[in-house]
Amino acid sequence: MAYLNVDEVESALIAMARQWPTLCEHIVLPKRSCEGRSISALRIGKLPAEEGDMLLISGCHHAREWGGADICISLAADILEAYSRGTGLKYGGKSFSKNELIRLVEGMHILVLPVVNPDGRHHSQTVDHLWRRNRNRSYAGGNPTCIGVDLNRNYDFLWDFRKHFHPKADVGTSDNPCDPQQTWRGPSPLSEPEVQNVDWLLRRYPRMRWYVDLHSYGELILYPWGSDESQSDQPKMDFQNPAMNGKRGLPDDALYQEYIPAADARIYQQLAGTMASSIKAVRGRNYTPQSSFDLYPTSGCADDYAYSLHRVDGRLPKILAFTIEWGRKFQPAWPEMEQIIAEVSAGLLNLGLEGMRRSGRVRITLKTVSLRIEKGSQRSLEFLIESMRPLDLRVDCPPGYEAADRQVLAAAGSRTVRIPVESRTDRGGKLLIHCPQTGEEWEVQIMPF
Ligand SMILES: [Zn+2]
Repeated sequence: MAYLNVDEVESALIAMARQWPTLCEHIVLPKRSCEGRSISALRIGKLPAEEGDMLLISGCHHAREWGGADICISLAADILEAYSRGTGLKYGGKSFSKNELIRLVEGMHILVLPVVNPDGRHHSQTVDHLWRRNRNRSYAGGNPTCIGVDLNRNYDFLWDFRKHFHPKADVGTSDNPCDPQQTWRGPSPLSEPEVQNVDWLLRRYPRMRWYVDLHSYGELILYPWGSDESQSDQPKMDFQNPAMNGKRGLPDDALYQEYIPAADARIYQQLAGTMASSIKAVRGRNYTPQSSFDLYPTSGCADDYAYSLHRVDGRLPKILAFTIEWGRKFQPAWPEMEQIIAEVSAGLLNLGLEGMRRSGRVRITLKTVSLRIEKGSQRSLEFLIESMRPLDLRVDCPPGYEAADRQVLAAAGSRTVRIPVESRTDRGGKLLIHCPQTGEEWEVQIMPF
């Protein structure tokens, strides 16, 4: 094995959609790349697309950061294979159970966009391995070193750094197409077709909840904001407030800090922290969770943009967005990349499971602690359920007992749901019940009569 080229990525997506047509959907994005390549994504999830919460994972905004695409493809194949075989997944020292795979596939959606920037990846894999940008020639004036836009500086979040940031802020972006750092932001926000595709995905699904943009390198888990340090006390220090223009982006100052509601700041830290511990469990690497600004001030990045969308347009869902800077090189040797794929995959699956557990107004309370059932008779498990979405309760019975899985319809308010259990034995045992949508599991002792 080695890194996939752009055609292999595309054919892998098509092959998975063919092999598992009921589990995933191949999505051709609306815009072709600057050089005319088709760009596509794969949605994994059994629910109708509008119904489940969604995690979007994208790779290869930056052409030379090859492994992002391979992480997406490998993760998608792992999930589909494990689920359809009815097994769990194991990455080094981190395991995911069969039930956790069921939750991921039946309770939510994972949408992978392995290569945001196929032209750049192709150029990096065939001509110039350190190429970063896309291959837009429109602004290069015929100079080959000035081709392309830095796609992760092209998003519509404080894009116009000359206006939005302090003149002394060291923002990692540029208005010079020939900038040697390859960080040219492009002629206008969202100007690039490759970026418009990501924007289209972010706006398309009413329950898009989480977004991870894969980059390399640094072993970091970054979360908003990238514009300045975060604070939760002064809502007026906000990216949308023009009175704050010219003040953003300086470290350790009182002039400006970007507002984030305290609850969001907390959940960002918690989710980044649990991702880091899953990653560490694989082979011991320490990924540091931190705000993007702690790395350096940025403008026009995908993660800030995704998280800012619900504040700019209240009809859009709140998306908690992260950037993972995997590994310690742009293009590690393949055996090392395989280890990185494993650790990042573990972090991403953990984000889906943890995120799902925390989202939504679903509360399931098991009222039954233990059951005493006479041989030949029947007793009921009792749940108190509050849920605006449909749920399943799956029951695993010990030998000699019988109970049917139960579907629970969405409804306002709370209600009691009973599952009858029948006994044909005078031995005791342990009943296991789980809910694939929330991932909760319960154990009930059955006492011999
Ligand atoms: Zn990058």
